[in-house]
Amino acid sequence: MRFEISRVMDTIEQRLTTDITLAQAVVDLAEVARFVALDGGRPINLLRLGMVVDALSRYLIDAGAMLYPVAGREVLSEAALTSKERMVLGRWADDGLIEVTPVVADRPAEIADFTGLPLVVVRELPPQAKTRFPWIADSPERLLRLTPRAGGAVLTPGGEPMPPKDGKERLVIRGQATLPIVPPDPKDKTEEKEMAEPSPAEPPAEDAPADAPAEDAPKEPVAAEKGGRPDGLQSFTARGAQRFGRTRVVRRRFTRADPSGVGASLMAREWRCKEPECPAFGPIRRIGQPVPRMRAGLPACPRHGEAVKDIGPRPAAFAVAIVVDDLARRRFVVSAEHPVIVGREPSDPDDISVAAWLHEAAAAWIAKEHVKLEVKAGRLQVTDTSENGTLIWKRSTPDIKEETERIYRKSYQLDGWDSIELYTGVELVVGDHRLQTVVGSEPASVLLDAPTVALRLVD
Ligand SMILES: [Zn+2]
Repeated sequence: MRFEISRVMDTIEQRLTTDITLAQAVVDLAEVARFVALDGGRPINLLRLGMVVDALSRYLIDAGAMLYPVAGREVLSEAALTSKERMVLGRWADDGLIEVTPVVADRPAEIADFTGLPLVVVRELPPQAKTRFPWIADSPERLLRLTPRAGGAVLTPGGEPMPPKDGKERLVIRGQATLPIVPPDPKDKTEEKEMAEPSPAEPPAEDAPADAPAEDAPKEPVAAEKGGRPDGLQSFTARGAQRFGRTRVVRRRFTRADPSGVGASLMAREWRCKEPECPAFGPIRRIGQPVPRMRAGLPACPRHGEAVKDIGPRPAAFAVAIVVDDLARRRFVVSAEHPVIVGREPSDPDDISVAAWLHEAAAAWIAKEHVKLEVKAGRLQVTDTSENGTLIWKRSTPDIKEETERIYRKSYQLDGWDSIELYTGVELVVGDHRLQTVVGSEPASVLLDAPTVALRLVD
């Protein structure tokens, strides 16, 4: 079993980051590791972090979802952890995959405030956090509440657990299809008022699940036709949602808020900690930086507590998702300092291979090094280096009718909601700019090698 546990830890590790460009949610690591209700096992268990990764994947319908864990320093020497777990934690901390800080307090909420990332919550947040960050009360969709479900965990937007209707817990989704647009229900007026705006960009109504079988189609007419507003929360809870099989749905989940003013200025700069070995703000760090912690009005290193030095503007960086058959499979960062080559088999292992998701025809079409992505003048640029060319899907906004341009051995600067198609169904999409998503098959679990029996055996 030890071997499997190591493999699971390695798989979980690939989904952790403190690079704010790559991360998709923030969590207090110890709160999750101590959340016994998730599996009924021992008092603290690092595998529970994998459950959060899985839950985030299902929430975002993103098989490559990336989590930003914050851990109090004492967790690293927690006697109730296995020696293997302590070793893994130490490695993650050194590699900057988790943030270690002497006192966690409201640090996860602070990161969520500075970056706009959603905050995974297990318990009620402390009153100080609510005072410091009014959005905790005003924008509850920015909180993703973690609750146990069928041997795993689910994330429910809205912070507070919703009361089940008719005794049935149908307000929680587990990757099943959701209705893209729900007409306003007069009975739900109050509820609707309390619900925050979904992401500002609304994909077109034509992206509604037109390919759903008629008998499975929702009875409700499409809201846009009636001038109704799509909303954030109802799309999770829509009646009939469970009955969809493999259906295209428009993304309507909260993914990221605007950073706060302080956060925006902190994220605009690059910072340096006095400790040369600092995994967060030291010169040895290889991945993009986190945001400093504010201490007495000064940006400070979360690990070492001392003020960090402003060493210049932060290089522009973009998160890019590999989307195959409308499901995001993996995320990576392209920055001014680190161009990335994407293809079937790039010669440098640090570049990105899409081989794992290709069927025969796609593999024959896509070159070993198909495109080069780099940041030029603050914008993402793609250069085709293939034999067959690359298709650019051009969209200035998500709901504009697409135009395409085929590029061959030349460069193109991406703008707005443009995406890059290497082969039909194999796309590179900037950030969270997916227009639709196929559900029905859930993203694979990072805990595949750790069935319940493994979880028990660690005891
Ligand atoms: Zn430091």
